[in-house]
Amino acid sequence: MFPNPTDSAASHADLLRRIAVAARAAGRQPRDVVLTAVSKQQPWQAIAPILATGQRVFGENRVQEAVSRWEGRRDGLELRLIGPLQTNKVREAVAFFDVIESLDRVRLAESLATETAGMARPPRLYIQVNTGEEVQKAGVAPREADSFIADCRDRLKLVIEGLMCIPPAAEPAGPHFALLAKIARRNGLAGLSMGMSGDFESAIAFGATAVRVGSALFGERAAHG
Ligand SMILES: *Cc1c(COP(=O)(O)O)cnc(C)c1O
Repeated sequence: MFPNPTDSAASHADLLRRIAVAARAAGRQPRDVVLTAVSKQQPWQAIAPILATGQRVFGENRVQEAVSRWEGRRDGLELRLIGPLQTNKVREAVAFFDVIESLDRVRLAESLATETAGMARPPRLYIQVNTGEEVQKAGVAPREADSFIADCRDRLKLVIEGLMCIPPAAEPAGPHFALLAKIARRNGLAGLSMGMSGDFESAIAFGATAVRVGSALFGERAAHG
């Protein structure tokens, strides 16, 4: 059922190697690309061996699930929220996550500004851009990104670290990565969270500073959720 620890260590090492190869091929340093291990829906038996390899950055897509999985076990780890955030969960999310990658609307930005005011170390923030303009997908539209970024910075005084996208499943991802990189560049944003199991090497070629890899590391997830 679960990958045994030897397999997990091997798949983690293989992933780091592929990231390094892709980075060098793009004239970049491997250390400039962070691997976010997406642990959502994974049983602890699958996560423990990845932790044992020294992996320290993990991604989760639900607040409640993340808290129940990582509470009491998160010393020295960086936890990133990569899934949608409801405004009624913002207080809990800012107290728990080191990074929130799904900032995608004005109300959420306002709520984040309120809840992080006075925090010594507020979570680092990424704005999600719906590069494919898919109706079912979260994220600000590409043409609204510049004004949204400016509103977050100028009016709400939020520090934005970068941008995040999830390209449409049925299209080549490259143009979406290129678009995200272009929006980041013209807004002076250094962080680019893009690329998943099937396309992280392409994302690195387009400048990803963090790739979010789940199934290529842990194996397939449980069927739902
Ligand atoms: C689940 C998820 C991933 C990981 O996807 P894989 O294809 O399993 O690597 C990456 N990003 C987000 C936002 C996700 O929800």
